[in-house]
This record gives sequence, C-alpha cells and structure tokens, in this order.
Amino acid sequence: MASEPELLELLISKSLEHEGLSLQHLGRSTALRRLNGRWEGCYASSVAPAVWKRYQGLGLDLPFSEPFDLALALRERLMASDLVGHVAVEPGGGLRLFSMKHLDVQKKRGRILCKGCSTFFQEGNPFRTHVQNAQDTRCFSPEAAEYYLLPCQDSAAAAALEVSRRSLDPGLEAARDGNLKELQRLVESRWDPLIALDHHGNKALHWAAGNGHLEICRYLVQMRMDPKAPSEKHQNRCALHWAARNGQTSVCAYLLDLMGFVDVETDGKDTPLMLAAWQGHLETCRFLATQRADLNHLNSWGCNAMHKAARMDGEHSSLQMLDFLLSNDVKASLANCNGHNALHKAASFGSVEACRFLLLHGLDTRQAMAPDRERNTPSSLAFAAGYHRLAGELRHTEDVLWLTPAIYRAPETPGREEVPEDSAKI
Ligand SMILES: [Zn+2]
Repeated sequence: MASEPELLELLISKSLEHEGLSLQHLGRSTALRRLNGRWEGCYASSVAPAVWKRYQGLGLDLPFSEPFDLALALRERLMASDLVGHVAVEPGGGLRLFSMKHLDVQKKRGRILCKGCSTFFQEGNPFRTHVQNAQDTRCFSPEAAEYYLLPCQDSAAAAALEVSRRSLDPGLEAARDGNLKELQRLVESRWDPLIALDHHGNKALHWAAGNGHLEICRYLVQMRMDPKAPSEKHQNRCALHWAARNGQTSVCAYLLDLMGFVDVETDGKDTPLMLAAWQGHLETCRFLATQRADLNHLNSWGCNAMHKAARMDGEHSSLQMLDFLLSNDVKASLANCNGHNALHKAASFGSVEACRFLLLHGLDTRQAMAPDRERNTPSSLAFAAGYHRLAGELRHTEDVLWLTPAIYRAPETPGREEVPEDSAKI
C-alpha cells in the first residue's frame, strides 16, 4: 500500500515540477485527507485550488485560468507515477487520488473502479449496470464502454458474441436465426418456448422480434407466448422494444396490433420510439409516430427522444433523425434531471456533427449551453470524455455567448475524436 507520506511527497513534487509553481505550498497545509475510513489508498487533496488562490492573492501570473485547469495539469503529472492508479478532478479543482496498490487490492476482490464517478463496483454485471444507467456522463470512459458492450450481442464485442452464440439455448438460437423448421422440431421434442431464456431473461419472442422474423413471432404467439412479457433482467424490455430498437418496423406493426399500446415502458421508462430514435431507425420512428406514439415521452431521468438521438452512437444514427424529431416539436433544449439537454448529450458522446446541427437549430443560447447540475458546460463534458477538439469548438461558442473577456486556448493534449461504439443488440 502506498503510504500517505509517499503520496503527499509525490503530489508536492509533481506540483513543483510545473514552471512557476515553486511557491505553491508555502504557508498551506496540503495534508492528504483519507477519503473513506475503510479504504486505504484513497485520498482527497485541495492543493490545486489552494495554490491557485495563493497565487491570485500574491498577484502572480499563473498559466491556468481556473483551479480546475491547474488540477488537470497536476493529474497528468501524477498519472505518470507508478504509485498512482487513478486521479479524479472535481469541478472546483479538488483532486481525488487512488493508489495503484489500492486498485490492485480491489481488483483481487473483484472490484473495479469507475473512473467517471470514482466509485468501486463489483466486476461484471454490477459495473455494467452502473455504466448503462449512469447519469454522470464521465462514467462513459473507454474502459467502461467495454463493459457496456461486454455481455451484449453486438459486433463490437466479437469475442463475447462468439461465447454467447455458442452458449445460447438452441430454441432461442433458432428464433434469432429465423429457423422456423428447427423451432418446430424442437417444440415437438418438448422444448418449451415459455420457459427458455438467455442470461438476460430474454425469451424466444424477444430474439425473433429483435431480428425481424415475423413468421417466427407469429408462431411463438400461437404457442401462447405473451407479446407484452418483459425480459426479466434486460431493463424489462418487451418484444416491441427490441423490434423498435433494431428497426424491425413490420414486426413492430404486428406486435402493436396484438398489444394495442405503443408507449410501453422499460424499467427506465424508455419507450419503443425512444429506442428506435436512439438507434437512428427513422422509418420505425415514423411508423410509431403514425401509431400515436408520444414523441415527447420522458424516461425516468427526464430524457426525451432527442436526448437519445443526439448521442449519435446508434447503428443508424443520422442528422435526419434529429431533423425528424425537431420537425415534430420534440424539444432539443429540454433539460433532464442532470441539467443535460441534447447538446450536452451530443458533446459527451463526442458527436461533432450533432453539436453543430443543434447549435444551428437554436441551441446556441446561454440557456442551452448552461452548466449542468455538476457545473459542467457542454465543452467540459466533451473534454472530460476525451473529445478535446470538439471541446475547444464548443468552448469558443460558450465564450462568445457569455462574452468572456478572454480568448480560450485549446489544450494540446490529443483527444479521442471518434464516436464510441454502440451497445446491446439482440
Ligand atoms: Zn461511474
């Protein structure tokens, strides 16, 4: 375990390494505070705001406009050390340090750190669930994205996919592949579609609907499968959610006829239309709209279809979808429970085109570009997610809107200017 003095020493020496910071800890106590009594190796430090304020007080020039920027620079230096496993920077510039040894000890216990919210989770499902339901966009780190994909049947998780394909129940496999003959043969040999499920609690009808096999859906419903039945663990999605999510419009039409209700909700209160909007299935959205789907439905976090679509991480995401929603009076400026509107979403998912589109369509206002509940503006969300060029572009717009009397210099560190891959697919 890295000891407290060692880490303190490191923190101070790294702070000192920065040009012009030689006075930084004079007169200040920089003692590390243990974050949690139970955990050794997690510390909080307010060295960055303390130093920054001290410099301000002395009237000295600092190459950082805010304590947060100083903290970011410190983090970069600290992360180069073998002692340090993770450093989180809080909005006010506070640092939270996790020693490498601490991460190792936790890893042996099967616990993994979410680098977004600096919380440990049990590996596997608990962490995946956290990432899938995270309200803090910083939780969508590249590592977390891997977990997000891991247990799901998607091209991005090829290895996991192979395992899950191999281990899938033969009846579910036949439903997925649209193999009616095989399904009938299995039923004759006493395979029961009402019982068989995968590790997410999805049944044969979910698989058939998600893959667009109308004939199989009909057969399974004849076999008395309930079209309304939710998957037990997969956010309580029913067959209609899967069909909509994967753009299977004719299956949507068939299921809707049976169900008679279009705005069925998952456990997060997502509707089929929201899932179709997220994945960019324009035809499906249009169809659901003709079936009186509520285009302005809000999920448990207060997100509408525009929040979903603006992520642009769906298989068929496009600006046409954003345009379709806008022309149907879905508000892009609506803030969810975190204070995020569609622009905040597009920024944290690194979509340059969605950000530009939204700015062009009325979100270039102070209100729309306002900080979220955690005081992150769209540009800081983009930055935190690693999209540095986009962050620079947004920051410029924010500065212009707020008439900031300073010219923003984009940081030189390289960012990941790409769209993260999509997640679950049945
Ligand atoms: Zn998190």
